[in-house]
Amino acid sequence: MKEAYETSFNKICPSCGVGNPRDASNCIVCDRDLSETVLFLEDSFFDLELTQDELVEYRKNFYRTRRTGKVVRYTLKDMEEVKFGHPVKRFIFKYHGERVVLPLEEVNYERLKETLESLGIKFRNVE
Ligand SMILES: [Zn+2]
Repeated sequence: MKEAYETSFNKICPSCGVGNPRDASNCIVCDRDLSETVLFLEDSFFDLELTQDELVEYRKNFYRTRRTGKVVRYTLKDMEEVKFGHPVKRFIFKYHGERVVLPLEEVNYERLKETLESLGIKFRNVE
């Protein structure tokens, strides 16, 4: 008889990219605390993680198949002039005097926008 159980490994660890069971509080592989992650997005050029106080960019290689190991952290409170571009979907902000532009796939663009709004981050929509 087949046992009736359900395991889903769809909670992706932002640090190592491994799929975890939905109810996991720490990553099964690297033990990273998964509860800090507010939003995790896999996009073409990078994976993006949003926590309560920072945005983390995990850069991907040219072929977009794996991460390069380059990780860039942006503290949310240091982001200035936060904008969402349209119709080309881009997330744009100024960070320590430098302009940062992150092109996003449509679904990720919408999800990031919604989540930042719920965190109380102010942004403008630009053409
Ligand atoms: Zn992990």
